[in-house]
Amino acid sequence: MIININDIPTSGKDFNFEIDLTSLNQRINGVNSLVEEGNLPLPEYRFKKPPQASLHIYVQGTSVFINGRASGVFLAPCSRCLEHIETSLSTKIQITLKPRPKYLNNQEQDEDVGFGYYIGDEINCADLVEEQLILNLPQTITCSFPSVTQCPKASARIKELCKNSKDKEGDERMAIFRTLKVN
Ligand SMILES: [Zn+2]
Repeated sequence: MIININDIPTSGKDFNFEIDLTSLNQRINGVNSLVEEGNLPLPEYRFKKPPQASLHIYVQGTSVFINGRASGVFLAPCSRCLEHIETSLSTKIQITLKPRPKYLNNQEQDEDVGFGYYIGDEINCADLVEEQLILNLPQTITCSFPSVTQCPKASARIKELCKNSKDKEGDERMAIFRTLKVN
């Protein structure tokens, strides 16, 4: 979903579109390919259907204002029992973009300025919405049970872990951790 700012009338324009599912899921979970061997991968978040975005975009001078909402439903494992939980996400979109100043190269971002940049006349709205959805994913997901002890699956896992660690003084599966140096 790429728009040209010259196509936006002074009154602004509404855009309703879907976010590409494959692209979004790859972007969310792609970070795991960067996790170094020996480190735990991040829990997987997977959107089930293409999220919907509805935006109102208007231009004032050279500033572009993007307001609206993006919503979708994703699956992620409960942090206690690993059950896959379906969660709805609805994110408010409020972005201001200004032309990228010449003194910044393509990779650089001025931090803390409160707005982003666009290059040329085009804005990739799908890319911006994907970014906002990812930033607003909750860090932990838990199932509807109010506590670990009330979740039968989580309780069973804890019992199993306790049993295993009692069976062997110093679980041999943990031996690898004892060889790691603390930096
Ligand atoms: Zn759970």
